[in-house]
Amino acid sequence: MQAIRGDRAVVLGGSLAGLVAARVLAEAYAEVVVVERDELPDAVAHRRGVPQSRHIHGLLAGGQQALEEFFDGLTAELVDLGAPAGDPLGSLRAYFGGHRLQSGSSGLLALQASRPMLEAAIRARVRAWPSVDIMDSCDVTGLTATSDGGRVTGARVVRRLDSSAEQTLTADLVVDATGRNSRAPAWLEALGYPPPPVDRVPIGIGYASRTYRLAPGMLDGDIGILIPPTPEHPRGGGLAAIENERFLVTLFGILGDYPPTEPQGFDDFASTLHFPDINETMRDAEALDDPVGFRHPASVRHRYERLSRFPAGLLVVGDAVCTFNPIYGQGMSVAALQARALRSHLQQHTRPEPVTFLREVARIVDVPWSMATGGDLAFPGVVGRRTIQMRLLNGYLDQLLAGAARDPQLGRAFLRVAGLVDSPQALLAPAVAARVLLAGLHRTRRATPKAPDDRKRRTASSTAEPTVRRRE
Ligand SMILES: Cc1cc2nc3c(=O)[nH]c(=O)nc-3n(C[C@H](O)[C@H](O)[C@H](O)COP(=O)(O)OP(=O)(O)OC[C@H]3O[C@@H](n4cnc5c(N)ncnc54)[C@H](O)[C@@H]3O)c2cc1C
Repeated sequence: MQAIRGDRAVVLGGSLAGLVAARVLAEAYAEVVVVERDELPDAVAHRRGVPQSRHIHGLLAGGQQALEEFFDGLTAELVDLGAPAGDPLGSLRAYFGGHRLQSGSSGLLALQASRPMLEAAIRARVRAWPSVDIMDSCDVTGLTATSDGGRVTGARVVRRLDSSAEQTLTADLVVDATGRNSRAPAWLEALGYPPPPVDRVPIGIGYASRTYRLAPGMLDGDIGILIPPTPEHPRGGGLAAIENERFLVTLFGILGDYPPTEPQGFDDFASTLHFPDINETMRDAEALDDPVGFRHPASVRHRYERLSRFPAGLLVVGDAVCTFNPIYGQGMSVAALQARALRSHLQQHTRPEPVTFLREVARIVDVPWSMATGGDLAFPGVVGRRTIQMRLLNGYLDQLLAGAARDPQLGRAFLRVAGLVDSPQALLAPAVAARVLLAGLHRTRRATPKAPDDRKRRTASSTAEPTVRRRE
């Protein structure tokens, strides 16, 4: 427990980013109030404010580890309740860059609770803090501030159920976690500050998802299948076993190639994926609902860290800062890593310093943002600036993933970086680079027959060996 930094902190938005921020703030403020527009269910259920919960929500290992720091025993609790879990290199059939990762041990854990289950478990833990009050069915309508706009002093809220008049919640600190539609830029302008510059990478991705009953043996002991899109095969999909003997299939297409949400069209789309595993599994399964869709036009990053002036008493976290292309599965983990940064910021400063904190947030966002946008810009149709460094890295990753089809050490290195556990520099470490080189030599040798006679003797299956394919 750290020294108390103030009487009350108010968190706007009670989804993943808001809940983990509230958990951290409960260590430093006498009272924490979370204001959430939705009526929050006691049980595991979807809700209006988080429509994305109907789609696969992979929790990266970096996020799982950070959540465990805040909520001791959370992983075991969810596994006890039936959430599948396993080593992503051992129990997930993953086809990155058009290559199936060779199975092995990554030392990481993939926890596959559904999004509503994960959120419900975290919400219950946060609610259990005596100093935390979750005000649901309550709209945030704006901020209050000192007359010179130098300090945010609270939030204006309206309770939805009794349609009561607007009231003010005074606060020493307000944390905006209202997600992708955050009004923080407009609120800043109203207080006399410039809004943050915005980076956008238009990817035009569409999701469609459907739930199925998971019969024993259907996945041969695996917990999921992942087929990310590549420039050659820009349609992708995921299949994730989740709690209660169900599995979720999410299909996606980019640049306006949206998977249909009527059942026949959904099945037809699945049959066009580069690898048949998802289609074959869902074909034999009982569907439990109709497909639902979601569209993500662009990844959007608000560059709050570039503002030199920012009001005291206000912070911004989660999707309100940055929404990523969801196929990389980063948002929840980034929110958890930001909460870790908030905890250490509160330990180092007697009062939060927004400009400093927002720069720390930006450093956390930098890596997943460049991985996601670098991946997106490998698709020729995606508009954006392609730096030489990005092209080189994408080329290197192509080679690494091709090598990972045989060498589990390369798959391990890749998953640890993609999982936000190791920094991207780990992929350039001499031991990894040497394996990438070796794998490339091996493939070149296999692809270059020594003599014409050799060529004649090759069987149909050996000529079908994969050659180097471009990564997404
Ligand atoms: C299709 C899709 C798939 C995704 N898949 C993954 C994945 O696989 N892995 C992963 O880690 N992440 C994934 N994400 C991202 C993930 O859902 C978010 O990053 C995560 O929920 C954290 O977001 P947040 O809490 O900042 O915002 P949100 O989850 O959007 O929540 C914002 C909250 O604020 C509330 N709110 C908004 N406005 C107001 C207001 N005025 N007053 C009161 N309350 C308000 C909303 O009701 C909501 O509860 C996906 C996102 C999408 C869209």
